[in-house]
Amino acid sequence: MCIFCKIVKGEIPNQTVLEDENFLAFNDINPARKIHVLIIPKGHYDSFDVIPPKIMTAMTEFIQKVASKLEIKQSGYRLITNIGSDGGQEVPHFHFHLIGGEPVGKLVR
Ligand code: 5GP
Ligand code: ZN
Repeated sequence: MCIFCKIVKGEIPNQTVLEDENFLAFNDINPARKIHVLIIPKGHYDSFDVIPPKIMTAMTEFIQKVASKLEIKQSGYRLITNIGSDGGQEVPHFHFHLIGGEPVGKLVR
């Protein structure tokens, strides 16, 4: 079982930001910015590349609720999802990184 499935099952502790029947948002263990939350479907999908669009629709609404709860709708934030090897994905359970709480900077090469 993957590490995020273990988090969903409660076998690994997490700092939960928001949870519903289908999704979980929790603080990243190694935050890259002041706010760094991981948002996952409770069901296992390897990456965004295989996620059913129907799940993305529900996840969109959940992510918007996470942003409300974090009070960053005015200040803004960035969503990132890494996909596979070139994408730099380390945990093979689809997730968004939500970062913010400060200016996150430009994407530069
Ligand atoms: P990826 O590189 O797969 O897009 O990102 C994986 C993220 O998961 C990393 O930012 C890493 O810090 C985070 N992470 C890995 N293991 C754990 C864990 O056990 N708990 C939490 N809260 N975050 C984790
Ligand atoms: Zn998983």
